[in-house]
Order: sequence, then C-alpha cells, then structure tokens
Amino acid sequence: MVRDEDPAQLLRAVGLRVTRPRLEVLSAVHAHPHADTGTLLRAVRAHLPSVSHQAVYDSLHTLTGAGLVRAIQPAGSVTRYEARVGDNHHHVVCRGCGTMADVDCAVGETPCLHPSADHDFELDEAEVVYWGRCPQCRAATTA
Ligand SMILES: [Zn+2]
Ligand SMILES: [Zn+2]
Repeated sequence: MVRDEDPAQLLRAVGLRVTRPRLEVLSAVHAHPHADTGTLLRAVRAHLPSVSHQAVYDSLHTLTGAGLVRAIQPAGSVTRYEARVGDNHHHVVCRGCGTMADVDCAVGETPCLHPSADHDFELDEAEVVYWGRCPQCRAATTA
C-alpha cells in the first residue's frame, strides 16, 4: 500500500529523523517482505557496507515502534518484518521451510476483530496465522 512512497517522506510523516540506516532498513523491508533480521542485514549491507548490526536492529525497532514496519512472530519462528502495515492482513506459514505469504483481511472491515466473545476487551488487532505446507515442500515429499 505504501510501496511507491519515498522512504524519507515516510520517516518524516511519523516524526522520525531521517538517517541513512533507517532509510536503508525501511527500503530493505519494502523490498523483502517477511524477511528475518539476518536477511535484512545482508540487504542493507549491500547498499551500506559499513552499517553495524546494532544500527540495523535499532532502526528495525524504531520503525516498528513508529508503525512503519510490522513485526510478525509466528510461534517457533524468528521474527519477520514487513512494510505492509495497518490493514490487519494475516499470514500463511509453511511448517516445512518457513515460507510466509499474505492473506488479505477485508480492508477497513476486519470481521475477525468481532469475535464470538470479546471478554469485554477493547480489540485493535486480530492476528491469524494459518499453518500448513507450501507447494515446494509438498512437491519435495511426493517426489
Ligand atoms: Zn515450505
Ligand atoms: Zn504480510
């Protein structure tokens, strides 16, 4: 949804100072949806070889806190990051290889935010993870 926007503008829009590591990390998250920290670190270093681990972690933390990046933590999997935020979409995760893909939730409607029982909580997010096996892993076992 924000794929075409200038990362510097996105940072300014949420009141963050524009720094090179933040710009590179945000661009890397846009370019590699559902990547883990190691993958993002390699992607950032391709453009900014001198960047430290810590600067990348700090940038991810800051961007996540500001709502520009969403952190996804499926049970038993490392944290993944994506730049598709605010639409309450869900994920399908492969038990075999960890491949993850988006599953749309109705934008602006989020029916899953209206569960059969809300226990009097004020709900703002419904996170659904669908677990299964991806086509590649299924093909590998049937071959
Ligand atoms: Zn798989
Ligand atoms: Zn996603």
